[in-house]
Amino acid sequence: MEIKIVKTLNPKQKPEEDSLIFGMEFTDYMFEMDYTDGIGWHDAIIKPYGAIEIMPSAMVLHYAQEVFEGLKAYKTRAGEVQLFRPDENFKRMNRSNARMCIPQIDEEFLLEALKALVKIDAAWIPKSPGTSLYIRPFVFATDPFIGVRVSKRYKFMIIMSPVGSYYKGGMLPSRIYVESEYARTVRGGTGEAKCGGNYASGLAAQQKVNEMGFEQILWLDGEERKYIEEVGTSNVFFLIDGVFVTPSLEGTILNGITRKSVIDLLKYWGERVEERRITIDELTEAYDQGKIKEAFATGTAAVISPIGTLGWQEREMTFNAGKIGDYSKKIYDTLYGVQTGSLEDPLNWIVKI
Ligand SMILES: *Cc1c(COP(=O)(O)O)cnc(C)c1O
Repeated sequence: MEIKIVKTLNPKQKPEEDSLIFGMEFTDYMFEMDYTDGIGWHDAIIKPYGAIEIMPSAMVLHYAQEVFEGLKAYKTRAGEVQLFRPDENFKRMNRSNARMCIPQIDEEFLLEALKALVKIDAAWIPKSPGTSLYIRPFVFATDPFIGVRVSKRYKFMIIMSPVGSYYKGGMLPSRIYVESEYARTVRGGTGEAKCGGNYASGLAAQQKVNEMGFEQILWLDGEERKYIEEVGTSNVFFLIDGVFVTPSLEGTILNGITRKSVIDLLKYWGERVEERRITIDELTEAYDQGKIKEAFATGTAAVISPIGTLGWQEREMTFNAGKIGDYSKKIYDTLYGVQTGSLEDPLNWIVKI
């Protein structure tokens, strides 16, 4: 498929790099293509960022048939542009698509489309430490029909937003609350798909823990409220007795690309990593025995987010005296170093543009 390019006549003023707010400002261009049953994907175009028109009856607005992805582009000190494991994002998007009955996309074509888009907006990639260009591919049902069935029409888009350092003024360990009232998903549900519905259903819990003075939720499994699953929009790791433990992928948690990269990196360093089920009781017991040295969350947005305090029922557990752990820092520095080209890329994660 050819990609049509429509140039903007009004390039926007770029924001100051030290005052970027996550997801607020968007670049000059966006990518778009449409799907129609019987035709397939068509009309790929890179055009000026702007409003789109859909019918009020568009199915996504009613039944949330939608999937999204998140990845980043970075500028190296030499001014080169690079992406971090973008092929993994399109692979995962197709797995999410399959779960949500959305047609498969051509992963290779989209990687080329993404490269073309990033290239045309390359001046929008910030350069200061900790910054990057956040990339949001997403696909949604556009059939103008409010009966409940699988849509016959879709729109796929990529929009991009320059983002500032997550850690202005230093990496701050977060306060996380273990949620036991609300559930994010259950086995057989959509927990493994990166779909908007999972987020909508988590908002009430998010609001509740914010009011309690916590930043994020640690979700337990939806059935027994016993097994640890993930933190808000990130995966989670605990360093217990010298072993890095992260919940295994049982179909209810998101298969994070940062999670996978952290596991690969730790193994590359010769560390012990266990992907397995872990209960909140095992965690509190290990905590009481002084065995937990560090806890951190992993995701594209913050890369590594150390957990300072974990609230569970009436108690609060503090890890590493509420300070950033040595491993949290070392993993962050290594991943961000590879992403921005200041460190070697021994595991072949980088795609240069
Ligand atoms: C996107 C996401 C993650 C993190 O995945 P990455 O690929 O590392 O960014 C974790 N949990 C949920 C629920 C997510 O949506």
